[in-house]
Amino acid sequence: MIYLDYQATTPVAPEVVQAMAPWISDKFANPHSPSPWGREADAAIAVARKQVEGALGLAGGSVAFTGSATEALNWALKGSVEKAPPGRNRIITLTTEHAAVLDTCEWLAGCGIDLTLLPVGPDGLFDLELLARALDERVLLVAVMLVNNEIGVMQPIGEIARMARAVGALMLCDAVQGFGRVEMPQGPDLIAISAHKIHGPKGIGALWTRNGAEPEPLIHGGGQERGLRSGTLSPALCVGFGAAAKLSDERCNRDYDHVRQLWPLALHTLGEGWIVNGSVNHRYPGNLNVRRDGLDAARLLADVRDFAFSSGSACASGSGRPSHVLKALGLDYREARSSIRLGFGRYTSQDDLVAACRKIAEAADVQGRAYA
Ligand code: PLP
Repeated sequence: MIYLDYQATTPVAPEVVQAMAPWISDKFANPHSPSPWGREADAAIAVARKQVEGALGLAGGSVAFTGSATEALNWALKGSVEKAPPGRNRIITLTTEHAAVLDTCEWLAGCGIDLTLLPVGPDGLFDLELLARALDERVLLVAVMLVNNEIGVMQPIGEIARMARAVGALMLCDAVQGFGRVEMPQGPDLIAISAHKIHGPKGIGALWTRNGAEPEPLIHGGGQERGLRSGTLSPALCVGFGAAAKLSDERCNRDYDHVRQLWPLALHTLGEGWIVNGSVNHRYPGNLNVRRDGLDAARLLADVRDFAFSSGSACASGSGRPSHVLKALGLDYREARSSIRLGFGRYTSQDDLVAACRKIAEAADVQGRAYA
């Protein structure tokens, strides 16, 4: 199988498997126990935390491990609302955010939070002027993702964080698709990341918090993670996340150059008639979201069985609903249904990408002839 679904998840790096191995077998101690084995596990987690923080490269804050980025985002949003000073009751976010942000914000709106959803243009970028107009001292938090998981479009996080800070609001960045792949922007107060998008294991994420901006805990219990997120940590998952972060940090430029070469190759190989969804210039090039007039993307997925790619957001797939991100770009139902997402990365070879794109183009041609 040729794997072209790097936004859904990434293959676990061999270095990560090797680093994790002892912690899933012999080294089984509870890292919070005072025994020598427990202390050894605790020390391994401390190293992993430093590796993740080192890869983030941000000063003045620290990382708390969570079970996923979804948890980190829920925690950041709900915990910041809990801690909000009187009078700050508004959250601003974009219509193209991940469901982990949008659904949590909708839930908070049901609890009385004032929610402002800013639209994006056909290129997936949003107008900073709209944000400037929406920002005042009633705003508690602005949540914007670094790299969009469906269309790869990148937002100007540093500038957004600066604008939020000017009115005393927090800035939350969902950096799940950007961490380890592009340079991390300075400025956000809260950053959510996930190990499985950077060749690490599933089941672990993290929230980086600027000192003093820690949200109220979502999960209470044994007081782990400085009392911010209770629950016994898994040394294996933490060590895996640390190893993946270190590797991504070391390889960031190389991996980026690799996907930057693959993007035009994929588009060229697909051939005529494909339209790129979202900005061509402001994007992470490991994501190619394209549509072709009249294509039934769901059928294409079923026809081209030996390749893994996506007909929209993997997180929302199975829902049968057209992607909310493509809708936000102004695409109609037919256009959204004719869109596919190819995600490539560190282990994608040029030959595999070309073979997959040829097969996809052929299957799309066959569909087109059948409907003609
Ligand atoms: N945010 C973005 C942009 C994502 O792409 C994803 C996963 O697809 C998430 C959040 C959720 O991450 P996790 O799988 O760690 O819960």
